[in-house]
Amino acid sequence: MTSTDVLARLPLRDDLRGRTPYGAPQLDVAVQLNTNENSYPVPPEVVEAIVEAVQQEATALNRYPDREFSALRADLADYLGHDITPDQVWAGNGSNEVLQHVVLAFGGPGRTALGFTPAYSMHPLISAGVGTAWVDGLRGTQSDPFDLTAEHAVRQVAEHAPDITFLCSPNNPTGTALRPDVIEAVYGATSGIVVVDEAYAEFSRAGTVSALSLLPGRERLVVTRTMSKAFAFAGARLGYLAADPAVCDAFRLVRLPYHLSSLTQAAARAALWHADVLLSTVEVIKEQRDRIVASLAALGLAPAPSDANFVLFGGLDDEKAVWQGLLDHQVLVRDVGIPHHLRVTAGTPQETAAFLDALRSTLQAASTLQAASTLQAQA
Ligand code: PMP
Repeated sequence: MTSTDVLARLPLRDDLRGRTPYGAPQLDVAVQLNTNENSYPVPPEVVEAIVEAVQQEATALNRYPDREFSALRADLADYLGHDITPDQVWAGNGSNEVLQHVVLAFGGPGRTALGFTPAYSMHPLISAGVGTAWVDGLRGTQSDPFDLTAEHAVRQVAEHAPDITFLCSPNNPTGTALRPDVIEAVYGATSGIVVVDEAYAEFSRAGTVSALSLLPGRERLVVTRTMSKAFAFAGARLGYLAADPAVCDAFRLVRLPYHLSSLTQAAARAALWHADVLLSTVEVIKEQRDRIVASLAALGLAPAPSDANFVLFGGLDDEKAVWQGLLDHQVLVRDVGIPHHLRVTAGTPQETAAFLDALRSTLQAASTLQAASTLQAQA
C-alpha cells in the first residue's frame, strides 16, 4: 500500500484532497539558482557575532523566549527606517509565517483572498491552508503580459471584494516592482487588508518606492519583508512585517506562544547589527542580474525587467527541455509553470558564467537537433 493510498483513507480535510505541496526541488547540484537565495555565505565576522550571541542565550534555554521579541522588533524598526516604530513591527520564522499570520487573522473559512497571477505561489497555498477561498486575479497589458496597472487591479478588487489582497513588489516570479499608484489605488478600492510582499525590496533598481512609505494613515496596509534574500539568512528563518500597531495586535491572537525561539531572536539581532556587511553583496548581485538580463536579450530571449535577485525569461521553445539541459550541466534553475519561460537566480559572477555557458550549449544542442530533424524530414 502506497502512502498515497493511505492518505486517501485518512480523514483529511476535503479542501486539501488532491492538493500539491510547495516543492522547489532541493537537488545536490553545483550551481543552485532556483530558490532566489543569496549565493554568498555569511562572512566570518558575522558568523562570529552570531555564535557569540547564540552562546549567550544557551544557558537560559531552560526558559521560554521573550514572547514579544521586543529587542528584535526594535532592531528591525531601526533597520526599516521610514519612522517605523517597534510596535508596528511583527516577525516570524520566515516571511511565510508572517504571511500565514495575516491569513489566520484576516482570512479563514468564508473569506476570500485575491492575488494577481503569476505571483508568489505560496500566497494561494497559505490561504488554502487556513481555508480561505482564493481568487486568481490577472496581470497583463497589451504590451506586457506581466504588468499590473492600477485600473486593471482596481477593477478586479471591486469585482471580487476580497478580505485580503496580495500584491508582490518586486513580483516573484516576474521580477518587476509595482508602481506606488497601483498600491494606493488597490488600497482605496477595498475595505480589506492589503499585503505588499517586499521579500526582494533591497534589490530594487534606483528610484523604486517601497510600500513602507505608504503606511502612514493606512491602517489596513501590511508590508512584509524577509532576511532570507538580501541578508543571506534563509537558513535562520526570519521574516517580518510593518503595519499599524493594531494589526500587529491581531497577530497576537493567532500566533503560537513563543513562536520565535531565543536562538532565532539572538541570531537575527546579531545579523542586523552587521547589516552593512551582510548587505554588501546586494550591489554585486544586482550587477549579475543586469548582466543576465543583457546576455539573455543578446541571445534573442525575452528577459523581464527585474528589481529582484532573479530574472524571468521567455522565448524558449521547450522550457522543460532547457531546464533539463541546464541540469545536465549542473545548473539548477526554476520552472515556474509559465509556458516558454524559466526563472534564474542572480548569484556570483562565476555562477552567472556557468549558467550562461550551460544555456548557450543547451540552446545550441536543441537547434542542432532541430536542424537535423528538419533535414531528415526533408530527405
Ligand atoms: N515572499 C516571496 C515573494 C518569496 O519569493 C519568498 C521566498 N521565496 C517568500 C516570501 C518567503 O520567504 P521566507 O519565508 O524565507 O522569508
